[in-house]
Amino acid sequence: MIFNFNKNTKNKLYFWGGVLIIVIFIWSFIFKYGADGNLKIYFLNVGQGDAIFIETPEKIQVLIDGGPDNSVLSELSKVMPFYDREINLLVITHPQKDHIFGLIDVLKRYKVDNILFSSIEYKNSLYKELSGLVKEKNINKIEAKAGVQINLGEFVSMDVLYPFSDMSGVKVENPNNTSLALILKFFDRKFLFSGDAELKEELNLSNSGLDIDVDVLKINHHGSKTSSSVLFGKNQFYF
Ligand SMILES: [Zn+2]
Repeated sequence: MIFNFNKNTKNKLYFWGGVLIIVIFIWSFIFKYGADGNLKIYFLNVGQGDAIFIETPEKIQVLIDGGPDNSVLSELSKVMPFYDREINLLVITHPQKDHIFGLIDVLKRYKVDNILFSSIEYKNSLYKELSGLVKEKNINKIEAKAGVQINLGEFVSMDVLYPFSDMSGVKVENPNNTSLALILKFFDRKFLFSGDAELKEELNLSNSGLDIDVDVLKINHHGSKTSSSVLFGKNQFYF
């Protein structure tokens, strides 16, 4: 076939070239900000434990806790594309088995960029193994305490409300009441995650004067009777 490069063909080329550029621009926008621009929060089905996966409109991914077994891996594969082996931020609310067991394999199979946790001293072989992996993989550690704010792109941020001060090296028997309390903000929507906080931490938070008036509360300590005090739960939706 002879390709006549006359003026007419040139104009056609300009037209289709322009269309192509617009299509590429739209697709790159969709790729960057997602098809819907929504914040996605998945409460993964890991049985008696917690594992929460968050994806911002800019595809920044956060995993809060990893559940009591390896089921977090199959759950993650349902919400992350198979080629995506990177998690931008891993949050450990507190180092008990039902929150950290699954994280050992997550750290082995995914590239984790940052980890947010409170480095309390707590005797637990899993926690020791987890800390060893974090060190070995040279993951950036962020010590959690009130005032720390993490910007997860342009539209989403995460504020640490609790513990009130640096807990590194503090010996702890029951870590539930050292659970990180975090508020995730997306425009004017707020979500509160506070691990297995019991009455003591809930009262500390309620009495602190901090704004914990949120749209969604991840119910503390899996809904056990030691948590969700009336004072804390007033006017909240429970999940
Ligand atoms: Zn728990």
